Amino acid sequence: MPFEVKILGSCSATPVYNRHPSAQLLNIDHRLYLIDCGEGTQIQLTRFKIKFNKIDHIFITHLHGDHYLGLVGLLSSMHLHGRIKDLYLYGPPGLDEIITVQMRYSETFLNYKINFRELDTEKQEIIIETNTMTVETIPLQHRIKCCGFLFREKPKKRRVNKEMIPANILLQEIAALKNGEDIFDESGNLKYKNEEVTFPPRRSRSFAYCTDTIYTENFLPQIKGVDLLYHESTFLKDLALRAEETYHSTAADAATTALKAGVEKLIIGHFSSRYKDLQPLLNEAKEIFANTFLAIEGETFSIPEE
Ligand SMILES: [Zn+2]
Ligand SMILES: [Zn+2]
Repeated sequence: MPFEVKILGSCSATPVYNRHPSAQLLNIDHRLYLIDCGEGTQIQLTRFKIKFNKIDHIFITHLHGDHYLGLVGLLSSMHLHGRIKDLYLYGPPGLDEIITVQMRYSETFLNYKINFRELDTEKQEIIIETNTMTVETIPLQHRIKCCGFLFREKPKKRRVNKEMIPANILLQEIAALKNGEDIFDESGNLKYKNEEVTFPPRRSRSFAYCTDTIYTENFLPQIKGVDLLYHESTFLKDLALRAEETYHSTAADAATTALKAGVEKLIIGHFSSRYKDLQPLLNEAKEIFANTFLAIEGETFSIPEE
């Protein structure tokens, strides 16, 4: 089953050099989650042949324009494309009001319902929980209320080795084996020893999306050991002062976060328009955390199940 992140937008404030403001699409088991929706997101979705109405959940980190100015356009297009099923939208206070005002003055009545969940960006909370995964908020430190998102698969069950069990095994015995139990017969004799007839569970994958934020160690425990971390990297470290003033991070900050949190892989993005060439940002991060990649639009980062 897929667990992959597609980069749709990678720049900060202004779109330059064919780079678009923040947006990423996460595919977990063929369910699509859109994270941030900067201007041009629907054009990017079209470019990469992603059907708008396959997206049921949209997450907005904060209300700086480069993270949500594409939202009303996308919501309108979903309507025009015949959407009737509910959409789930997560964002800071005020986002629902912005949408309502725009729809009111254009006299647009959407054919579908938007279920808006207002986020308390100061605290870590689970905002989605299914049988197989959770989504939690990550409180970030920015000029305005802002939070990131952590997507995590729940621990998976053991897998039964079909070659080691008889065809007439009871369903409840299979369920117990998947839960890691040994099976005993009515007289209490061991029938199946779990580790002999099952394989270990597949790995539970995780992705943390952290933008926009000043360097902080506050959320390190929360993202500890994630498979994939996206962390903003607006500036090079020679502009560390500028990063601090604007509540952004440098490439070195992003890499330090990845290193201290012990993550597997780091993607950096949210590049300032002053950098046409992104290589220096990558080099700076790699000096601290070697397994770093640039957020290049159209690229997909996949986490394997094994
Ligand atoms: Zn931004
Ligand atoms: Zn911002």
